Amino acid sequence: MEITCSPFGPFETNCYLLIDDAGKRCAVVDAPPDSARVLLPEIRARKLELEALLLTHGHWDHMADAHAFVAPGVRVYAHSKDRSCYETPQNFMGFYKMALPHLTAVDFQAVAVTDWMDDGDSFELLGKAFSVRHVPGHCPGNILFYCASEKAAFPGDAIFEGSVGRTDLPGGSWAQLLSSICTRIYTLPDDTALFPGHGSRSTVGREKRANPYARPEADK
Ligand SMILES: [Zn+2]
Ligand SMILES: [Zn+2]
Repeated sequence: MEITCSPFGPFETNCYLLIDDAGKRCAVVDAPPDSARVLLPEIRARKLELEALLLTHGHWDHMADAHAFVAPGVRVYAHSKDRSCYETPQNFMGFYKMALPHLTAVDFQAVAVTDWMDDGDSFELLGKAFSVRHVPGHCPGNILFYCASEKAAFPGDAIFEGSVGRTDLPGGSWAQLLSSICTRIYTLPDDTALFPGHGSRSTVGREKRANPYARPEADK
């Protein structure tokens, strides 16, 4: 599986394009503002069939373009604890307009999630098995998508290279985030690549050793 990362939008949110080994089918992880305008033509040019959109959480910078990727046959995976973010994103417009006053209602379009995922759920994508881990704390509906055979995990904004997600947004909880990281992320194999919602990729082992904010249970 080929994984490419492109940051988009005012918060440089990572959008991942996953392409199967045969180079025929693809999936997208998170849909930041502008991602569809750039990626959909690329998907078409490479004659790829878009199989699914995986949404790590409902913050606007991760789902703004989600509606544009939706088409017949495209599955949309997300967690129901962020349902209001996906179904009525315009309700959160005031919050984002504080930092980005140029935004208008057009920038806040709902997305129809087809598959509500919860901790322990799994599905097949691009011929591989993916499983879901619920990692709340940054927000209530943050999930991690894990592909064991590819040693790859997409944790959204739960953890970053050398850092962790902010917990001062609605529904955030520092205690919950630390628990999510220790019990649902640090329990993945050390050589699992982490493809976070912002910044560079890392590995589980590296964060366990060096992340200054989230120390493994054994260190305490
Ligand atoms: Zn976020
Ligand atoms: Zn984010």
